[in-house]
Amino acid sequence: MKRLLILGATGSIGTTCLNAFRSSLVSGIGIAGLVSSSNKSILSLGKEFNSPVFLAEGRSREEIRAFIESVSPDIALNGVSGIAGLLYSDLLADMGIDIALANKESVVLGGRYLLDKAKRKGVSIIPVDSEHSAIHALLAGRKAERLIITASGGPFRERKEMSGITVEEALSHPTWKMGRKITIDSATLANKALEVIEASYLFSFPPDRIDVTVHKESIVHSMIECSDGSVFALLSVPDMTLPIVSAITGESCGRLVRPLDFRNATLTFEDWDRERFPMLSLGYSALESGGAFPIAFASADEIAVKAFLDGRIAFTDIPRIAEEVLGGDWTNVPSSMDEIISLSEEAAAKAEEACSRV
Ligand code: NDP
Ligand code: MG
Repeated sequence: MKRLLILGATGSIGTTCLNAFRSSLVSGIGIAGLVSSSNKSILSLGKEFNSPVFLAEGRSREEIRAFIESVSPDIALNGVSGIAGLLYSDLLADMGIDIALANKESVVLGGRYLLDKAKRKGVSIIPVDSEHSAIHALLAGRKAERLIITASGGPFRERKEMSGITVEEALSHPTWKMGRKITIDSATLANKALEVIEASYLFSFPPDRIDVTVHKESIVHSMIECSDGSVFALLSVPDMTLPIVSAITGESCGRLVRPLDFRNATLTFEDWDRERFPMLSLGYSALESGGAFPIAFASADEIAVKAFLDGRIAFTDIPRIAEEVLGGDWTNVPSSMDEIISLSEEAAAKAEEACSRV
């Protein structure tokens, strides 16, 4: 029996995973441990799943490492939100534990450094983000020329005027029910920017061979285009159970989601609006610039999203802050986790300072 550690067990990804266990959709895997930040409901989850639990808030890297060692998992689902997830991906890579990766920020920050370390340690990183999970499946046995990442377009796909957006409006995503950070990122399309960067690192594709198309139905999870012009797509109802369970089991399972009903399906694709969604353009240019620009982009975004949620800045200030931070010199390529963290802190401090001037 494979042993699974769930990081971020109280969040949206963690809950979807635990619900899959509750519905007996997962076989051949036992829960080794559950980790959250400060949410005490993890205690009752520990009882329900007969599993050790760990509250990470205020704990050191060594204490977290000791907990992971004590539960000796074969694989961990990284469903921690935001840049905090980087510590876990780095620890798991160090410890030789396979990673079912929902936390995209860890790839955007960790970049080649993290992926090279994982490779050296023989650690598999299996993407859980629905787009990357689809591309991962589509690339098996195929060579692609271009990746086409789909975007739902978020709650403001059709909104003309971007000023005056409230937190409540930005938090109401049309297709996915997710944590607060990723939901705001979906509204600005920063989430798609992070996903383009994630895809570039995970699949070794340059930015000019990764496209984004707005597909509001969220049924096509992404596509790959081969050299002969054929395009392969992965379709399913929008339900994270599929990418989560296929990543942790690593093989085909029984039915995981309800079938698509093609009698009533409409699939639409449209280009994204560069004017209204500058975060996606900024993400592309951060990736093109290389060095620590992706780190600066993700770190500035995280601070700006928090400031927006706290009511300190407007929705339209989020890209302004990211753009200001990206105006700095981020050309150095970090060569250690310490450097990555210190660059991220530097960008976060610049973003905080920019937020305070708004
Ligand atoms: P949530 O906000 O719903 O949940 C976050 C989880 O992470 C909570 O369990 C939280 O614990 C835990 N957490 C936060 N900080 C720490 C920390 N320092 N140490 C340990 N645990 C911590 O987020 P989501 O589930 O929506 O997203 C998680 C990740 O997955 C993100 O990176 C997101 O981009 C990615 N993702 C999510 C998707 C989704 O459908 N939700 C889809 C694709 C990707 P506590 O409850 O105690 O605060
Ligand atoms: Mg996604």
